[in-house]
Amino acid sequence: MTKELSHYVGGKHIAGQSGRFADVFDPNTGSVQSRVPLASKAEVEAAIANAEVAQVEWAAQNPQRRARVMMEFLRLVQRDMEPLARLLSSEHGKTVADSKGDIQRGLEVVEFAVGIPHLLKGEYSDQAGRGIDVYSMRQPLGVVAGITPFNFPAMIPLWKAAPAIACGNAFILKPSERDPSVPLRLAELFLEAGLPAGIFNVVNGDKEAVDALLTDPRVMAIGFVGSSTIAEYIYSTAAAHGKRVQCFGGAKNHMVVMPDADMDQAADALTGAAYGSAGERCMAISVAVPVGKGTTEALLDKLIPRIRQLKVGPSNDPDADFGPLITSAAAGRVRDYIDLGVKEGASLVLDGRDFKLQGYESGFFMGGSLFDHVTPNMRIYKEEIFGPVLSIVRAPNYEAALHLPSAHEYGNGVAIFTRDGDAARDFAQRVKVGMVGVNVPIPVPIAYHTFGGWKRSGFGDLNQHGPDSIRFYTRTKTVTSRWPSGIKEGASFVIPTMS
Ligand code: NAD
Repeated sequence: MTKELSHYVGGKHIAGQSGRFADVFDPNTGSVQSRVPLASKAEVEAAIANAEVAQVEWAAQNPQRRARVMMEFLRLVQRDMEPLARLLSSEHGKTVADSKGDIQRGLEVVEFAVGIPHLLKGEYSDQAGRGIDVYSMRQPLGVVAGITPFNFPAMIPLWKAAPAIACGNAFILKPSERDPSVPLRLAELFLEAGLPAGIFNVVNGDKEAVDALLTDPRVMAIGFVGSSTIAEYIYSTAAAHGKRVQCFGGAKNHMVVMPDADMDQAADALTGAAYGSAGERCMAISVAVPVGKGTTEALLDKLIPRIRQLKVGPSNDPDADFGPLITSAAAGRVRDYIDLGVKEGASLVLDGRDFKLQGYESGFFMGGSLFDHVTPNMRIYKEEIFGPVLSIVRAPNYEAALHLPSAHEYGNGVAIFTRDGDAARDFAQRVKVGMVGVNVPIPVPIAYHTFGGWKRSGFGDLNQHGPDSIRFYTRTKTVTSRWPSGIKEGASFVIPTMS
């Protein structure tokens, strides 16, 4: 019998009622390890109703008490780090070490949320007019929802839930149906940490569950991370239903390598950033841009042996550099892109399409692939491949290299490798991309700054975590107050001014 997963609502595991399920695979073996229920509209509505009731009391607690729940949650997740990482790795296919990184980057936003008493402090203007004080406060929205992708099943749910809950909201998570077990476990740990039932809920599902969240008037805000087509759909649908929305989409991250870069450092950085987690990261580098012919040759000399030496293995192999892709469909899609690149005329220098791992022949594995002579008109350059494939686009000079990521329709992350501070500064100033690394290949900002891409990588105006997350999960109320010794004038029909 295949194990059947549940939803988690009101502090309890709830069996699915819809009769619809999705398979959850072990990507190492290709076998189905469990099935996850796909919620109906009615099941989502029941979760919202439950959360709406629970939120009132949670918002009434003082923020220091809410912070203490976060502190205890941090301790519990650290206690359970090893089994959580193994569970994550078994459904996603990323290595156990990388799974710990996934959890840890989520915890760092929980640490940020521990500062909520300070973060929620409002503004105060004394004597804004004679006898008049003005102050503003940040109040929670009510019930909010997060819809998250498969590739960071701990980090992204926590990026959304921690600030949302710390602000006093109730949170409904609709995680990816590909790897829902870690989110369910996080829900149990939140309860164990003292979070009241109904404040962190997990509703598993697909489009039906998502649409129920997008259209229900009781859900006040939607945070989404996933592919750009779905991000755009979620953004427009939720906004049309009067919600505040932030949606983060796909990516095509470039790494510019200047002639003066340390080539060993650049090649190491590129190998890790392109092939780590089998390239299934929104901040993966998928395009390398060496500047000048000499740089391209020097870089390829260093890069090719490193890619050849990559160790692809089962996700629980401590020596593996990366594991399998999430599904056989995902691996098939990546193979199709490599076929397409060959047809489009790019040179396939290293071909990972036929990689097979002995003893794991049915797993969703691929080797690392490398294309050279990729040009901006090719689909393999324009579209997100989301697999272990790196493209080299040769740039004749710095301005041409700067133009590539700036003109691309995605604008998530970008990096420059150089020893020249002037070039690095100019690049950071002028490039039209949301997150920039200088000699840092995956510039995911730390928790107390904000994360967000530009162009088709981000829809909405506020970023994730950092101060933006507190703005996103609260609304401002501004009070203008006067305590006169006695109101002596009669009614005034002119708008009050501070003249
Ligand atoms: P996806 O868009 O397929 O799914 C994301 C979420 O949307 C899932 O919860 C899924 O169930 C739901 N969904 C899928 N189809 C839907 C539909 N038709 N209607 C409503 N909901 C739907 O993305 P994925 O494959 O899980 O994740 C990979 C993508 O996420 C990549 O494009 C990657 O770049 C992107 N990503 C972006 C960031 C970022 O911060 N910009 C971070 C991580 C991942």
